Amino acid sequence: MDFSTTLSTAPVSDERLAEILANPGFGTHFTDHMVTIEWTPSEGWHAARVTPYGPLTLDPATAVLHYAQETFEGMKAYRHDDGSIHTFRPEENAARMVRSSHRLALPVLEVDDFVAAVDRLVEVDQRWVPDNSVGGGEKSLYLRPFMFASEAFLGVRPAQHVTFMVIASPAGAYFKGGVKPVTLWLSTDYTRAGRGGMGAAKTGGNYASSLVAQQEATAQGCDQVVFLDAQEGQYVEELGGMNLYFVHDDGHIVTPETGTILEGITRASIIELAGKLGHPVEERRFSIDEWRDGVTSGRITEIFACGTAAVVTPVGSLKSDAGDVPAPASTDLTMQVRQALVDVQLGRSEDTFGWMHRVV
Ligand SMILES: *Cc1c(COP(=O)(O)O)cnc(C)c1O
Repeated sequence: MDFSTTLSTAPVSDERLAEILANPGFGTHFTDHMVTIEWTPSEGWHAARVTPYGPLTLDPATAVLHYAQETFEGMKAYRHDDGSIHTFRPEENAARMVRSSHRLALPVLEVDDFVAAVDRLVEVDQRWVPDNSVGGGEKSLYLRPFMFASEAFLGVRPAQHVTFMVIASPAGAYFKGGVKPVTLWLSTDYTRAGRGGMGAAKTGGNYASSLVAQQEATAQGCDQVVFLDAQEGQYVEELGGMNLYFVHDDGHIVTPETGTILEGITRASIIELAGKLGHPVEERRFSIDEWRDGVTSGRITEIFACGTAAVVTPVGSLKSDAGDVPAPASTDLTMQVRQALVDVQLGRSEDTFGWMHRVV
């Protein structure tokens, strides 16, 4: 795929960029450029381009605004201490967007084209990838590829005009002032995914449906919400943006099986990494009773959650209408897994899995 490039005539100044990168926060500052590729049934993917970052003009009848036919991805580019820039397993994000798009009846963007699009943006906006060489931080450039129904048509059918874009936003360390356990609220009124539904797809609708449950969690004084399976209301699924792990006193780890959860790339990577550290990971159904009993008896020693944004975070106490479950005793393995993964991503340890993809 050939990309045309129109560079911004008004890029952010070096002084302003230094200010932004000193304290990037999350998702508030955007780089100077964006990537766009369009699709129609007759032309396929075409008009691939890098242009200055800016607002879209959409017809009010644009299908995504009405029927939410949309998929997205979340990934990061990391600057290593030698100045080189790398993304983490980008083919996995590309493959997941293919699966998500299949579920949302959107066209397939080939893995190579997805990776090329992300690489192009990172290359053009490389000065936006934060430097961690002084002070050993964990800053990165968050990348957001997304695809949406851009046809102006109110009929209910898959759109005949689709747009794929990539935007980027510098991200600070997820935890300011050190990693601390997240507290959770158990949602029993809301579920995020049913059998045959779209829980395994990365699509905006899953997030829209989680917001009211998250609001409830916040009102209960908790950081995040835990969802149970929709059928029996017994089995732990995920946090709606992070996958869960339960560490047992004999060293093995249990993580909820796939189907209605979103299969995180961090999740898959931790299954490999923990196995290598001598902690086999079992993928199976895991009930809320097993959580409660396991922590109470001491058989569960640690719980953690993972996703691209936070990498790995310890899970603290769980609050629910049926009573609270205290935080597990330890966070040692959690922090060990976190460090091992962050070190590979930031180029501070050898990439024995071949996970990093060099862009610059
Ligand atoms: C993106 C996402 C995750 C985490 O996936 P990663 O690839 O590890 O970032 C977990 N749950 C949901 C619902 C998600 O959308």
